[in-house]
Amino acid sequence: MKKTNPIIMKGLPVSKGVAIGKCHIEHGRKSIEENYIEKKLINKELKRIDSAMDKTILDLTKVKNKISPSIKKNIGLFLDTHILLINDKVFVDNIKGRIKNNLNSCEWALYSEYLEIKESFDNIEDSYIKQRIEDVNHVVNMILANLDVKKKTTKGLIKDFSNLIIITDDLSPADVLLTYDSKGLGIISEYGGRTSHSSILTRSLELPSIVGVKNILKICTSGDLIILDGHQGLIIINPNKKIIDHYKKLQKNSIQNKKVLSEVLKKKSITLDNEKIEIMANLELPHELKIINNKNIDGIGLFRTEYLYTDRDDFPTENEQYKAYKNIVEKMKGNPVIFRTLDIGADKEIPENIKTGSIARNPALGLRGIRYSLSDESIFCNQIKAILRASAHGKVKIMLPMITTLSEITSAKKLISKAKSILESESKKFESDIEIGIMVEVPSCAVLADRFAKEVDFLSIGTNDLVQYTLAIDRVDDEVNYLYDQSNLAILNLLKTIIDAGAKNKIPVSLCGEMAADVNYTRLLLGMGLKSFSMHPSAIPEIKNIIINSNVSKLAKPVNVITKCGAKAKRAELLTEINKS
Ligand code: PEP
Ligand code: MG
Repeated sequence: MKKTNPIIMKGLPVSKGVAIGKCHIEHGRKSIEENYIEKKLINKELKRIDSAMDKTILDLTKVKNKISPSIKKNIGLFLDTHILLINDKVFVDNIKGRIKNNLNSCEWALYSEYLEIKESFDNIEDSYIKQRIEDVNHVVNMILANLDVKKKTTKGLIKDFSNLIIITDDLSPADVLLTYDSKGLGIISEYGGRTSHSSILTRSLELPSIVGVKNILKICTSGDLIILDGHQGLIIINPNKKIIDHYKKLQKNSIQNKKVLSEVLKKKSITLDNEKIEIMANLELPHELKIINNKNIDGIGLFRTEYLYTDRDDFPTENEQYKAYKNIVEKMKGNPVIFRTLDIGADKEIPENIKTGSIARNPALGLRGIRYSLSDESIFCNQIKAILRASAHGKVKIMLPMITTLSEITSAKKLISKAKSILESESKKFESDIEIGIMVEVPSCAVLADRFAKEVDFLSIGTNDLVQYTLAIDRVDDEVNYLYDQSNLAILNLLKTIIDAGAKNKIPVSLCGEMAADVNYTRLLLGMGLKSFSMHPSAIPEIKNIIINSNVSKLAKPVNVITKCGAKAKRAELLTEINKS
């Protein structure tokens, strides 16, 4: 299709970054027709299926051998699952049976077997197992591609995607690895979700990616010039010069910035007037640990432990969690790691079979965070035991999410004591003086921060939720996004209340919401007295650069004026003023 005007499509951004280049449509599966063979061709057809399956196993093994050792452990598993399926006796026998007994062509035998498996998966309630039909689908597609005689000259799965943006129907781990390995620029899929194995993989490999772009395969043709904006989930097909220039500038700025800012990382995090400001990282996945290497940070200010619980249909055992936490603690070599206890529910996807209250109505106001943990003591206790055991290997702190009442702290502390007693009886080592802190992200806790501060060792401000709950805006609802304002006067006053409560009670206060990573607010927060910032690792250089070029003593006065200024426009003006260097 000849397209003259730019077309903008939107999907779910799963891995950040911008890619500009020609696209390549990768195997949207052709429709498979019901096809039969003559009896005398049975043996020939059986040989064809055997060799297509052998070739697919070989291709998968080649991909597996090509991936770097750092990701091999996790990713190799996905590929092994695919290889196992092709070797599965029942699967192979059924296909061959269709050829021998029903005189199906190879393609039809394979496809009708797939349809039958799919039908049985459709009836499964468990959403995790249900999703595994994706694996069968990927395998069937690969075998079909190898059956295609016209493709005999291609090298199967080993292809050259250099400088191309790959568009596919459904993201398979093999697609992602091939794109990455052959220096593809990014990857887009028509279907798929944020927590699929493949999406997780794109993030680990820092390969820009968007999924769930409905109809992209109908609209795009191989060779079209496109822009993939992995920050906003936008695809711009046939962009004009102005759009391309804009995105090229963004890419250039980010490369230049990275170079300049890498120098900043080597410096100490001290302001111009000699205030030490703590800079910590937020982590969601253990693979991200490699990104924080050389970032010279003061620790992990927020470890979102949900990754261990999502994308599966059961709960991780204490031992499994212990091993994962220990690994992180050891890598931090004495710097603290703040483990936030499980915060599933609301926007944090979890398997459907895990009860989280009446999801249908108001998930953000439902059974999430500490409420969920206190509703199921055994899950909470297991996690606490694992965190406590990890504390024997380095500096560890426990942080409780979504604290709304003081009694939640009391209940959680009781369970933490219980977990300690169990560990003692099991003769397992842990740090008994472990610090316990809370996320301040619910207005009731923020308003009474002074009282809550008396019960804990530290506070960490979760602005993502604090803004959502104070302004009554669902943080994932596009339609009310315009109201999501971190500089709302009510928010600024709550922030000041929390920071002051920490100072008064002599306990540290950190901020780990996205506001900590927003360059517009660094000086505002410094002026309010904030001494610890925790953010996603990629934001650290820019924020640190502002911190080391700020004079805190000169900020207190103008910031005090901003927190009292009722006029939004004037507030913005004053904010711009303090941000000028
Ligand atoms: C927050 O609410 O600001 C926060 C850091 O937690 P999460 O984004 O994981 O809810
Ligand atoms: Mg939160």
